Amino acid sequence: MNYVPTIGLEVHVQVRTAAKMFCPAANNFGDPPNTNLSPVSLGLPGALPVPNIEAVKKTILSGLMLGCEIAPYSKFDRKSYFYPDMPKNYQISQYDLPLCKGGGVTLGRFAYPKEVQKEDFAGAKKRVRLIRIHLEEDVGKSTHFENNSGLDYNRAGAPLMEIVTEPDINSPEEAYAFLTSLRQIMQQAGISDADMEKGQLRCDVNISVRPEGSEKFGTKVEIKNMNSISGVRRAIAYEIQRQIRVLREGGTIQQETRRWDDTLGETQLMRTKESAHDYRYFPDPDLLPIRTDEGLLEEVRHLVPELPLEKEARYQRDFCLSEYDASVLASFPHIAAFFEAAASGPETAKPCANFLINDLLAALGTETDAWASAKITPQHLAIVVARVAESKINNKQAKEVLAALITEGGDPDAIISKRGMVQISDTAQLEAWAREAIEKSPKSVADYKAGKIAALNAIKGQVMKLSQGKANPQLAGEIVQKILDHQKETKG
Ligand code: ADP
Ligand code: MG
Repeated sequence: MNYVPTIGLEVHVQVRTAAKMFCPAANNFGDPPNTNLSPVSLGLPGALPVPNIEAVKKTILSGLMLGCEIAPYSKFDRKSYFYPDMPKNYQISQYDLPLCKGGGVTLGRFAYPKEVQKEDFAGAKKRVRLIRIHLEEDVGKSTHFENNSGLDYNRAGAPLMEIVTEPDINSPEEAYAFLTSLRQIMQQAGISDADMEKGQLRCDVNISVRPEGSEKFGTKVEIKNMNSISGVRRAIAYEIQRQIRVLREGGTIQQETRRWDDTLGETQLMRTKESAHDYRYFPDPDLLPIRTDEGLLEEVRHLVPELPLEKEARYQRDFCLSEYDASVLASFPHIAAFFEAAASGPETAKPCANFLINDLLAALGTETDAWASAKITPQHLAIVVARVAESKINNKQAKEVLAALITEGGDPDAIISKRGMVQISDTAQLEAWAREAIEKSPKSVADYKAGKIAALNAIKGQVMKLSQGKANPQLAGEIVQKILDHQKETKG
């Protein structure tokens, strides 16, 4: 029997703000332990929380970017549990009235792991729906030493969004693509640096499997606190196989919480459902509900940047690019910005896109750093494209100029003249080469005269060789053809 995996993610994203969620202490987790504290973040008796509007706005911004419905009325609740890194014995969270509901993330081609990008994703822009986004506070961090434990409360009370997906994910690769897309969206809008290594994006993974053809989801297992996107992918792959093995052997899946051991490459049992918490949620009496009025919404709407998929559609519409070209350029904000600065309109967009994808992307890859340290600028690319359009240089020469600009920078026109790259469009000179090429290629000439149009290419190649690559290829082709057609007419 075959099994279908079902996956839902609960993602925690640290919101980048100056102050913590409910007090003015700095939201700076990397500082020396216990330097960013306040009575509120330590949970001292009598300390009163005040919500940080910056965190509320960034959560609404996330919701708008992800197509959520923004709640007109939302509130904070206390989630009670005891843990040493949470000194109040409750976490301020949101229970039944989260700030954002619904929405989703569309998985673009380049969000998937590299090895599967090559497969055909045409039309496969899957949308993973969200259930909700709520705002809460982070807890401190415990570090366990040989004989004792250390507690750092710098992170305690930092604003944290929890983004919960519908169980719409069906493979480890889709989970990877979801997290990659989400991280990119968070970074693009400055909501969070969303660096999983730094714990700015953490994720709990819910997984079940069900027999193919069955409608009802299987019992889910939760893997807690994943802290790398590739780890999430490996953990899901492992857990799917584990669950299938248990079922094939006639066992049943227990609802339980597991942890991922990356070194051993396996999930391990943490606790079963019997020991699940009862959080005793109730509205926090110290905090007023949040009313999201039209003024606040309008203010945040102005901060919404264009999403990669919207960019992709615009590039197809306004620049007449193919779906593929548009999706490559729009997938990476720094490459999109480069493209838009270089291309002035539909005429220059196609050559700019070609050089960007075939030459710059091939040389620099997709990483922001490589592009930032490369010497080439969008203006350089625009000049090179213009020189090709003016027939000053040909495509092959343009590639050489671009390669030089990437590593050395400089003035494209200076490179063109220094390398003696001027393309020759002088018809008298081209005709002389054409006649010589025709003389040297009797077989191709015979083929062409017998009706094989493609034989022209070989003769054109001869012209390029005779000119040491400097002939204007299009003009050379036209001249060769004219001479041959004339010979045919006068002989026949
Ligand atoms: P709980 O109340 O146990 O936390 P929720 O309904 O809040 O469960 O869902 C938590 C996460 O688990 C969501 O991301 C949801 O999509 C996912 N989920 C729910 N049921 C399943 C299932 N059967 N298999 C996989 N994931 C599931
Ligand atoms: Mg849950």
